[in-house]
Amino acid sequence: MQRSYLIKPFLDEEYPQAEYGKGIYLYDVDGKEYIDGSSGAVTASIGHGVMEIAEAMKAQGEKVSFVYRSQFTSEPAEKLAMKLKEWAPGDINWSFFVNSGSEATETALKVAIQYWQEKGRPSKTKVLSRWMSYHGITLGALSMSGHIGRRERFVPLLEDFPSVEPPYCYRCPFHQTYPECQLLCAKELDRAIRRVGSDQVAAFIAEPIIGASGAAVVPPDGYYQEIRAICDHHDILFIADEVMTGIGRCGKKFAIDYWDVIPDIIALGKGLSAGYAPLAATMISDKIMEPIFYGSKVIMSGHTYSANPQSTAAGLAVLNYMEQNKLVEGAIKKGEYLLDALRILQQNYPIIGDVRGKGLLTGVEFVSNIFNKLPFSSEVNVTKKVVTKAMEKGLLVYPAVAGMEGMAGDAVIIAPPLSIKGEEIDRLISVFEQVVKEIQDELQVLGYF
Ligand code: PMP
Repeated sequence: MQRSYLIKPFLDEEYPQAEYGKGIYLYDVDGKEYIDGSSGAVTASIGHGVMEIAEAMKAQGEKVSFVYRSQFTSEPAEKLAMKLKEWAPGDINWSFFVNSGSEATETALKVAIQYWQEKGRPSKTKVLSRWMSYHGITLGALSMSGHIGRRERFVPLLEDFPSVEPPYCYRCPFHQTYPECQLLCAKELDRAIRRVGSDQVAAFIAEPIIGASGAAVVPPDGYYQEIRAICDHHDILFIADEVMTGIGRCGKKFAIDYWDVIPDIIALGKGLSAGYAPLAATMISDKIMEPIFYGSKVIMSGHTYSANPQSTAAGLAVLNYMEQNKLVEGAIKKGEYLLDALRILQQNYPIIGDVRGKGLLTGVEFVSNIFNKLPFSSEVNVTKKVVTKAMEKGLLVYPAVAGMEGMAGDAVIIAPPLSIKGEEIDRLISVFEQVVKEIQDELQVLGYF
């Protein structure tokens, strides 16, 4: 093996070298095949090696790959913004392009603060969020995130934004059951705003379905309607972080569409370019743009590569491809099929405590005891065991964190490309079943289960 100076996620681990991909499959240089059961980091939504996208990118590259946004606009950037306006709910009509989900949420934070400045209320600078959340790795985005593992080294530099318990019915933070709970988890936002003072709070940010820090946790019906009402009551903006859930991943164009709630700002990433180029967006409503338009006339954020023609051409081709192949509509049925299959596994393997999700964003949470839902102790590292075993067997699943503060739990996300076919879901499930069975047997032998 040649010496490597590439810094990989874990320096003491070996990573296979990817050679090519087609559809839901990836192949390494040794010819081993992998089912991309998680679309990488829930990103490769239309599958790998789609020629239409490669051709659109080549065509754009032959014209011009980069222009600086302060000097030029470009056809693909304009067309993508127009397409996103058609896709987005309500008056979310404006797109600010960036390069990663973290930049999209961080821009959302800045836009929210700027909006209140333009409205003559500069004290509104805090953004509330939930303890079970991940909004990105840069300091502003991390400040809004409740992902303890990713925060802990940088806590002195972070704002203390996370404050509200999540809508996590499997382990209700209030030990209640829906609907008798009367959505206490949503009402907690009202209390949090009152505690901080609504004159201090610019916005509340939430992932419509909780991803990396929860593994596809779907809130109960009525939750987002309640959140929207509380935000409106206190003059607080609602930011939907749809970096993982947006662009059809959950069977609707945006996951928040399930609840007919219209946010003020939406952050997008991942599936927006389905992995073909670094691309993300902060989408902003007319209501928020108006005072900026008539006020300072500039959004005080942006990056060198913002709205570059090469990435936006990829994004535009991806959305066109999704429309032509009806991938969003198809994701509802495929997701139900996948969830049903996972629920059968849940009945047969008591290591699976919960199965959840919407569309093709599904999560599997592991427990040491299905009756009291006790998580495994963190030293056992069940998530890692599952991910590693799956990879050995040629299946990629995404490691997530489940459980709450002080009771970390193990979970994986299964989120294959939306282009997956029925028989490919069967194949994915059959490999995953083998993985679950072997891990359950191993844990039994070790006495953890
Ligand atoms: N928000 C959410 C909901 C995410 O899932 C992620 C990435 N996992 C991010 C933001 C950050 O995106 P990126 O890694 O592209 O910066």
